[in-house]
Amino acid sequence: TVLHQRQRRASKRSERAEAVLRDLLDRCAAPVELLRQIADAMAADMRAGLAAEGGSDLQMLVTYVDSLPSGGEKGMFYALDLGGTNFRVLRIQLGGREQRIIRQESKGISIPQHLMSSSSHELFNFIAAALAKFVASEGEDCHLPEGIQRELGFTFSFPVKQTSLASGTLIKWTKSFAIDEMVGKDVVAELNMAIKLQGLDMKVTALVNDTVGTLAAGRYLDHDTIAAVILGTGSNAAYIEHAHAIPKWHAPLPKSGDMVINMEWGNFKSSHFPLTQFDQELDAESLNPGEQIYEKLISGMYMGEIVRRILLKMAQEAAIFGDNIPPKLERPYILRFTLHTRTIDMLMMHHDTSSDLRTVASKLKEILGIKCTSLRTRKLIVDVCEAIATRGARLAAAGIYSIIQKHSQHSVIPDTKRSVIAVDGGVYKYYTFFGQCMESTLSDMLGPELASCVVIKPVNDGSGVGAALLAASYSRFHQADE
Ligand code: BGC
Ligand code: MG
Repeated sequence: TVLHQRQRRASKRSERAEAVLRDLLDRCAAPVELLRQIADAMAADMRAGLAAEGGSDLQMLVTYVDSLPSGGEKGMFYALDLGGTNFRVLRIQLGGREQRIIRQESKGISIPQHLMSSSSHELFNFIAAALAKFVASEGEDCHLPEGIQRELGFTFSFPVKQTSLASGTLIKWTKSFAIDEMVGKDVVAELNMAIKLQGLDMKVTALVNDTVGTLAAGRYLDHDTIAAVILGTGSNAAYIEHAHAIPKWHAPLPKSGDMVINMEWGNFKSSHFPLTQFDQELDAESLNPGEQIYEKLISGMYMGEIVRRILLKMAQEAAIFGDNIPPKLERPYILRFTLHTRTIDMLMMHHDTSSDLRTVASKLKEILGIKCTSLRTRKLIVDVCEAIATRGARLAAAGIYSIIQKHSQHSVIPDTKRSVIAVDGGVYKYYTFFGQCMESTLSDMLGPELASCVVIKPVNDGSGVGAALLAASYSRFHQADE
């Protein structure tokens, strides 16, 4: 009968799609032995990047942050956090060792898409205008005493070659940004100019990567913090290195003996990566082919796009969405990762716990215009999300593992000291499956004894708060408590 034929055809299609899934699971597998090889390769790249400028995929950027906030910082400070799909302006009042953070206000503003590929003037004028508005709306209780200039920590979440704590040139854009004329320019000079144009009396005291901000904020909360990781739109890590372990650093050693290194780990790549055709195609068609390969495996901007490409293949080869390919499924980056609206389409489908996978169905309809799917197809989609999230989380764990290893090589008693890794970013914060998978993988890699000394700690809004804290600890006007 017709019904029978239809059922048979549907089940053939599911079988074909399930074969694509099995192949995917094979190729994405990241067992611990493989993760160890990847971690070793990363550790070798770390050393090469510290030895010489341009010596490795990992740039291991010197940040000029040689001491982290102590807790004694005092005064009113600002931060501007630019990095993903939105930016935040923030004001924080610090009361010294006793009072710590007295109060804190912030405002998030989404960046219009066209500004990400406009001109540096347009982008910075937009940002400075928002900053001016934020300052203009503050009450008299925020006014600084005569003669004291407002100080700003500028979080700029892209690779920058710093020339001092408050200057540095953009090496390249990542994520969705692509303003070519900006590359090679001093981002602080651009911002200070735009601020001046707004008639605002404020100056950048510290230029920091979001990982460095998160490390500073983590350290302010917990003195055992040694590194920070961002898992958001993009991904990266920073950690505290011994200055004498940085051969490419030729200036006098800082008093503290330490230097925070911005690894720019997103650009790491290894022949051991469990790559698929989908990753290769995504990379080839991206804004930055050949670059940020690790980031393209583990961060929010890309994981949903990998899932889209897999579903497209299943639609083409197994007709899982019927005889026609849903046109929207052919649109790159349609599975969104938009933090300010907390929309992570992939996560919402993956976390659907209803027995009939209702959320998956409604997401398919809302985003892709796909009306009718079988439960078997929806289950398949969840499995695809899980395969990509699992691979990403396990690879992220390998990165953290290599930082811990590098760090413990310097400690006198490596195995007994508590080490805290501060983590922030939407993927970590909202994608519970990802975070749990990453942590359990890390524990497997470390073994029970070491794992009990390592703490993964969520640090909310660390990038902005941390930049303000660094502006405070390097302030030209304020003294910190001892
Ligand atoms: C950038 C890093 C940044 C990370 C997380 C990457 O694309 O290169 O500088 O820390 O994203 O925001
Ligand atoms: Mg960010």
